[in-house]
Amino acid sequence: MKKRILTGDNTTGRLHLGHYVGSLENRVKLQDSYETFVILADAHSLAYPKYIGQPDLISDSILQVAIDNLSVGLAPEKVTLFAESTVPEIYEIALLLSMLVPYPRILRNPTIKDEIREKELGDNYSMGFLNFPIMMASDILSVRADLVPVGEDQEPHLELTREIVRKFNSTYGEVFKEPEAMIGRVARLVGLDGSTKMTKSLNNAIFLSDDEKTVRQKVLKMYTDPNRLHPTDPGKVEGNPVFIYHDAFNDNKEEVEDLKKRYVVGRVGDVEVKERLIVAIEKFLAPIRERRAKYEADLDTVHGILIEGAKRTRKEAAETLNLVREKMKLPRF
Ligand code: AMP
Repeated sequence: MKKRILTGDNTTGRLHLGHYVGSLENRVKLQDSYETFVILADAHSLAYPKYIGQPDLISDSILQVAIDNLSVGLAPEKVTLFAESTVPEIYEIALLLSMLVPYPRILRNPTIKDEIREKELGDNYSMGFLNFPIMMASDILSVRADLVPVGEDQEPHLELTREIVRKFNSTYGEVFKEPEAMIGRVARLVGLDGSTKMTKSLNNAIFLSDDEKTVRQKVLKMYTDPNRLHPTDPGKVEGNPVFIYHDAFNDNKEEVEDLKKRYVVGRVGDVEVKERLIVAIEKFLAPIRERRAKYEADLDTVHGILIEGAKRTRKEAAETLNLVREKMKLPRF
């Protein structure tokens, strides 16, 4: 029997290059060797105060994020794509698992702490927000996944998931196995503005669905080495977002090495480095755009994929829920 993957994305807007290198790329690579479940985490998305009053955005994003996943090459006949809220068993499992998690443990979670700070939530975060990692544990454990391809920001949630597994199994008996995280080729892709993470909320992302003109504008405005004023000034390659993106998306490695060599001695301008990056990103995005156009012209097919995905996942989650209820001695009547 194949091992299982559970992975996915919030549905708070379209996916970007950071999602690709952090997680999507591994999903595509592993779809033949693992039985793969991809969750469109619409319920999770409500954890952020910003999205609470935006049901249309979350709802529209379900389809968009599904198309993002399909357009990078996930094959619908191989993977199960589903919207989280269409599998309500996940909520029930999450509630039961939450009984095993001490409240201070959540407040110590570094990703929760980062998000409270970065999103300037102050005291304005909900129980649902604190429940985010437990819901994620439930997403993973509902389908009893072995592997979770994610960006490095999600690792603390995997750590918590494993703790929940150990606690549940030792308290009630063996039901779950401990899932592993698989961090992407680029654990955390920097933003166009040089900030530590490409993220839609900071407006520093190139989306997988951006057109040629938008990509060009974004790359030409990108942050590079702030101390370099003229093309003849020696520049810094390390930590320079333009070169981080070249390393991540330019498959012409000789060209990248040549540009780096010339950059450090002041023999190439930022504009040439960016023009080459535009060519590389366009080459990377071309097949993605082609698949996207196909799915956008046939939304019924995408709906059908999500309906099938919900059925298939509900079956798995219901089995898990039965096991959990049995072990916890919750009655059947
Ligand atoms: P989210 O949009 O937060 O639901 O993220 C979905 C997945 O993409 C998670 O595994 C994230 O860790 C990953 N991800 C999002 N942004 C980045 C980034 N800038 N670099 C690497 N991985 C990312």
